[in-house]
Amino acid sequence: MAKSTFIGGVHPYEGKELSKNKPIKDVLPKGDLVYPLSQHIGAPAVPIVTKGERVLRGQKIAEAGGFVSAPIYASVSGVVKTIEPRRVVTGDMVMSIVIENDHEYEEVVYPEAKPLEEMSRDEIIDCIREAGVVGMGGAGFPTHVKLSVKNPEKIDYVIANCAECEPYLTSDYRRMLEEPDKLIEGLKVSLALFPNAKGILAVEDNKPDCIAILKEKTIEEPRIVVTQLKTKYPQGAERQLIYATTKRKINSTMLPADVGCVVNNVDSIVAIYNAVYLRKPLMERIVTITGEAVNEPQNMRVHIGTNYHELIEAAGGFKEEPVKIISGGPMMGFGVFELDLPTTKTASALLCLTKDEVSEMEPSACINCGRCLEVCPGRVMPSKLATLAEKYREEEFVENDGMECCECGCCSYVCPAKRHLTQSIKSMRKIILGKRKK
Ligand code: SF4
Ligand code: SF4
Repeated sequence: MAKSTFIGGVHPYEGKELSKNKPIKDVLPKGDLVYPLSQHIGAPAVPIVTKGERVLRGQKIAEAGGFVSAPIYASVSGVVKTIEPRRVVTGDMVMSIVIENDHEYEEVVYPEAKPLEEMSRDEIIDCIREAGVVGMGGAGFPTHVKLSVKNPEKIDYVIANCAECEPYLTSDYRRMLEEPDKLIEGLKVSLALFPNAKGILAVEDNKPDCIAILKEKTIEEPRIVVTQLKTKYPQGAERQLIYATTKRKINSTMLPADVGCVVNNVDSIVAIYNAVYLRKPLMERIVTITGEAVNEPQNMRVHIGTNYHELIEAAGGFKEEPVKIISGGPMMGFGVFELDLPTTKTASALLCLTKDEVSEMEPSACINCGRCLEVCPGRVMPSKLATLAEKYREEEFVENDGMECCECGCCSYVCPAKRHLTQSIKSMRKIILGKRKK
């Protein structure tokens, strides 16, 4: 069978064997739960609880701050201890609601769910918005905004991003193996919004067991296909995924809907399932705690707001002091410098490494080998862009398609001179995007 893919990309060490065979383990929080009001793209949520108030699990504690925003729910019962700035994985201090866990897990009564066939398009989107569902692959874009496209009949493909192409990460893999029905039913909810769309479950071919299960379970589903993708990083990046599955192309100024596509990741689709079929808000997610420094790497079902220290403890602690800790995967994640941080809706993994090969080597001059050009999935010139970025030549950076970089890290990964290509390009992009936003 032909496997779908894109041009460029790399094959980094996978590291998935550390945690892929570990079934999802439920981890109950011990200490306080911290809910940053900004854990999505868009306006911060607005608190609707006050200090000293008792809250139940599943109770809304912060309302969406606008259309592009998402509400936040308590994942435990307890008392609001404070509302104050707390540090998050990016290093920023973000206004957060802190709940003292009473360990009773007393839950609200959720509204009764209506059968999907009896729900209107607006009702379905409303349920998803109200549940606080956002892109849980890392971006945090509110899902109801993504689904509210102008011309729903023009959407041809609803793509479930099951690639999980980042090394070390295995939470989507476990979801597909252990809860495939939730994923398929969640995809069917999205399909109910787009009458002419076909559903694609796009899985890399290093997960043959998931492909087999999903194929077997969708054999009677005329609107859903399972597409086998070539295992290659960054196969799960939105543009590369859309190209691999539909041969349609988007650039940095376009949205997937402009080429008739809607893309959601595995955890978000399961959150859609919970929102519509169970009327339950987003309160939990699967997090992979892994890396050579961890005693028992594993996949955990985590109450959002749980402190990272507790997750490391639940994974048996460190067997060796980590040299580097990354939130997310090694290619696109970012380094964290302390563990006293809360898990959020977008926290997919914590990777604790005993070696930091990139930082160990000093960058040297470019030898013009062309490797970065060869692997760049954005089809831009990483070497030139990094030089322009280092010299703050903004105009030329844009003229040379710097904004088409998806920050995948492939160029830095292959560069024999160990130039900090992605880092330089990323910083320049951030400055330009910041200016455009203003
Ligand atoms: S320039 Fe950007 S898109 Fe191209 S390889 Fe580097 S990080 Fe990836
Ligand atoms: S891979 Fe590194 S050394 Fe080779 S051309 Fe690109 S920047 Fe230069």
